[in-house]
Amino acid sequence: MRDFSADHRWLSLNTATVRKQGDLVQIIDACARHGIRAIDPWRDQVAAVGLDRAARAVREAGLELSGYCRGGMFTSDAARRIEVREDNRRTVDEAKALGAPCVVLVVGGLPQYSRPGSAVSKDIVAARAQVEDAIAEMMDYARGAKMPLAIEPLHPAYAADRACVNTTEQALDICDRLDPGRTGALGVALDVYHIWWDPDVLPQIRRAAKDRLLAFHVCDWLVPTKDILNDRGMMGDGLIDIKSLRAAVEAEGFAGYSEIEIFSEGWWTRPMDEVLQTCIQRHRTVV
Ligand code: ZN
Repeated sequence: MRDFSADHRWLSLNTATVRKQGDLVQIIDACARHGIRAIDPWRDQVAAVGLDRAARAVREAGLELSGYCRGGMFTSDAARRIEVREDNRRTVDEAKALGAPCVVLVVGGLPQYSRPGSAVSKDIVAARAQVEDAIAEMMDYARGAKMPLAIEPLHPAYAADRACVNTTEQALDICDRLDPGRTGALGVALDVYHIWWDPDVLPQIRRAAKDRLLAFHVCDWLVPTKDILNDRGMMGDGLIDIKSLRAAVEAEGFAGYSEIEIFSEGWWTRPMDEVLQTCIQRHRTVV
């Protein structure tokens, strides 16, 4: 397991962590100030400053990307299928322009939540089938761009509105069916917030192995959690055994960034420099 205590070479900042403190160019400037070498930007943050300007800012700051957030939201009614496909193709194109190593997929829950306006459905079985078909379709396009896709399983609390792929096992089953040859085109993004509770997570990390482990996200789980979406904790403030999970992915050969991704109404009110300083300090001590 790598030693993170002396520097933050392997810290990546998911830019949603400070999304309310500045635009993407300001966030990139702040990363440069703090010696942060990688980011994972969100599509809306890129769009707000323009793709060309975002790509230039990344290049000029010498940053790498640890992913691109996000593709997916595959579930929809029939009227929105083309919109879903086109939207995801654009995501691949943007990721390519920005130099991302993969597109992170949040696959969608029930259609009315993942693509608002879709007819109401309670059929999660159908939603899961639709997700798999849509990933297969997106893979065809992403392969052409040599852009790997990373399925992020989300905690079951999000099954209705964000992702009906809820365990690492479920995500890896999809990988095995759609990419049985382990070509590198499809893998998983494992976020400690979503996987820490899963009694099967360690065997599933071994099953994933290096070629399916495309991204690793860190934050913490607070007790009590006041808001399931926007009350994530700073690493060390909650109860996730982050080091054990990092040890498990690194034992399989994962050698990429540990990406800090904190959606928090609390941290969004603090100055950007304070948040980044805290991220760096906690990354050295508890990640
Ligand atoms: Zn994540």
